[in-house]
Amino acid sequence: MNDREKILEVKNLKKYYPAKHGNYLKAVDGVTFDIYRGETLGIVGESGCGKTTCGKTCIGILPKTDGTVYFRGKDIHRMTRKQRFAFTKEVQMIFQDPYASLDPHQKVYNIIAEGIRIHRLAGNKTEEQKMVLELLEMAGLLAGHASRNVHEFSGGQRQRIGIARALSVNPGFLFCDEPISALDVSIQAQIINLLMDLKKEKDLTMFFIAHDLSIVRHISDRIGVMYLGKMVELTDSDTLYDHPLHPYTEALLTAIPIADPDISAGRKQMILEGEVPSPVNPPQGCRFAGRCKKCMGICHDTEPVMQEIEPNHWAACHLYGRKEK
Ligand code: SF4
Repeated sequence: MNDREKILEVKNLKKYYPAKHGNYLKAVDGVTFDIYRGETLGIVGESGCGKTTCGKTCIGILPKTDGTVYFRGKDIHRMTRKQRFAFTKEVQMIFQDPYASLDPHQKVYNIIAEGIRIHRLAGNKTEEQKMVLELLEMAGLLAGHASRNVHEFSGGQRQRIGIARALSVNPGFLFCDEPISALDVSIQAQIINLLMDLKKEKDLTMFFIAHDLSIVRHISDRIGVMYLGKMVELTDSDTLYDHPLHPYTEALLTAIPIADPDISAGRKQMILEGEVPSPVNPPQGCRFAGRCKKCMGICHDTEPVMQEIEPNHWAACHLYGRKEK
């Protein structure tokens, strides 16, 4: 993995919001990771852990407070207008709520053609029409849908329109912010499969945010787990599921329902109890200490740092001691 081209390099990224009494809400508090060409990195964590804020700050939708984000070697928070324009073609987004992210009164054709026009990707009207029809087909929609308004479509179909719009400019990188969490369960697998097929076909790199580990398993090559503004574990997908190191990841995994009663009976449940502390006043030591069944004395006063515990398997937890650099 490490010989591959780094598309996104995120170092010690922080995103704070002003809060009452001169305090700050530390939504993202020193997160470091890379995304390599052609991979899908999934980020998971409970609601409010900072994963969406992290994603949006990484692609420049939100300004950062500190740290650096490089996209193909360019600092995304210091781009010139020209670089920003090229970046908006290279990086596209698929949002959580297809009802809010698409104008319901717009024609599907215009929504998909907008990016083609902005980036002048079609030589003439006929070429534009051909491109729009190809995109509709690619997203599992019909040519006849082009002339209809967005409000005539279901949530799953709207998300397909959003995917066609995102792909209209032929991007290399897709940022997917919980793209299926607003959809019916029966539709979720269809959209995940569509994204996986398109990723393969178009050699896309993807940054996929989800609140639930069961969703990201199949789509992600590697997964990062966030808790209260921090990345607490990062490794490849199978290793994370088969051999999690961080107690928070273990708890998240045991919360996933298993259809097979034999496997389910053999799995030890680790119930997540207690409240997530406030990101305005996070605990001094490990942020998970108040909910962790394996908490030790050191956990209350010393913050654990992300370390490579096993090759390509990073975790921030005192259970693994302090590795020599
Ligand atoms: Fe639990 Fe301590 Fe590890 Fe935090 S550092 S996850 S409290 S064992």
